[in-house]
Amino acid sequence: MSAQLELRCRCGAVRGTVSNAAPQSANRVVCYCDDCQAFMHQLGRADLLDAHGGTDIVQVAPSSLSFVQGQDKIAGVRLTPKGLFRWHTTCCNTPIGNTLTPQVPFVGIAVQAFDGGAPRADAAFGKPVGAILGKYAVGEAPKGSTGLNLGLIARAVGKVLGWRLRGKTWPHPFFTRETGEPIYPLTVLSQQQRDALRPLCGPHPAASAAGRT
Ligand SMILES: [Zn+2]
Ligand SMILES: [Zn+2]
Repeated sequence: MSAQLELRCRCGAVRGTVSNAAPQSANRVVCYCDDCQAFMHQLGRADLLDAHGGTDIVQVAPSSLSFVQGQDKIAGVRLTPKGLFRWHTTCCNTPIGNTLTPQVPFVGIAVQAFDGGAPRADAAFGKPVGAILGKYAVGEAPKGSTGLNLGLIARAVGKVLGWRLRGKTWPHPFFTRETGEPIYPLTVLSQQQRDALRPLCGPHPAASAAGRT
């Protein structure tokens, strides 16, 4: 069974759709890494992190996501020159997808970007299959989020390889096929800007209070 899900930024200006939404066509994990936390703080959207700084992300094939409205309000940020491309809206700072280059085809979508949020993601994709990088969590690391989860890694690699082999890279929602270049404006944080976000993020237990004010 698969469904179509709508993407909707907080203000409604940017909209998109995810086709073929089903548990077997996605990989849903909660990521506690400090980069994901830093990105939300950079956006001013720490409200989207869970109590331990986690981001609930659904990874899908690039070709399954397309934007239908508000494309002029999409931009990207990289925390470092080689970091993930973290796409967001400029109207209301909603994260709408994390990617690498099209050579590694996936888009990681924070569940709040779905119209209907986490409950809608639950219905379409099922609950998260695990949590990763808990060593960066704010406060105590959630159970099962630390250490190397080989099952999760194998699953994620398998999905990406499958999408690549089955031609699900293109059309890519964030890159142009002809040149491989990003479609949307991109900002790369300076070292200074990146470092300024660190005190807000785990693994420092004190970040818990700061992040929610
Ligand atoms: Zn918006
Ligand atoms: Zn992360």
